[in-house]
Amino acid sequence: MNSICTVASRCNVKLYIISSYRKPGSTVFGAIVQLATLSNHNVGHAIDMSVVYGKDGTICNSACLGGTNLSGDIKCFIDGVKQNGLRWGGNFSTKDLVHIDDILNLNDLARYKSLYTTIQQQC
Ligand SMILES: [Zn+2]
Repeated sequence: MNSICTVASRCNVKLYIISSYRKPGSTVFGAIVQLATLSNHNVGHAIDMSVVYGKDGTICNSACLGGTNLSGDIKCFIDGVKQNGLRWGGNFSTKDLVHIDDILNLNDLARYKSLYTTIQQQC
């Protein structure tokens, strides 16, 4: 979140957080797990957000984020997030325009699984 907030501040936008950590259903990790099921939301490493921009605090939601005429401040934010090594859902094959994560599920599966186990015991 620090990285995301730093970029947001630099790009003169604020974020309206829609969702962050999500408690998964009754899914239990087995030895083999489909990557598609390893949401970074389940370990608190993803957010869904709308971008608040402009002097009047206009909210840019999913429909807006998918538009072709994004404000420069929003482009700055999206580009900056990606430059910081984070992943924007707008680049997914099935676009998830409000989503940002740190790719933990793909970059460090062992840590993801460890966090998942710990969090399930604590939350
Ligand atoms: Zn998401």
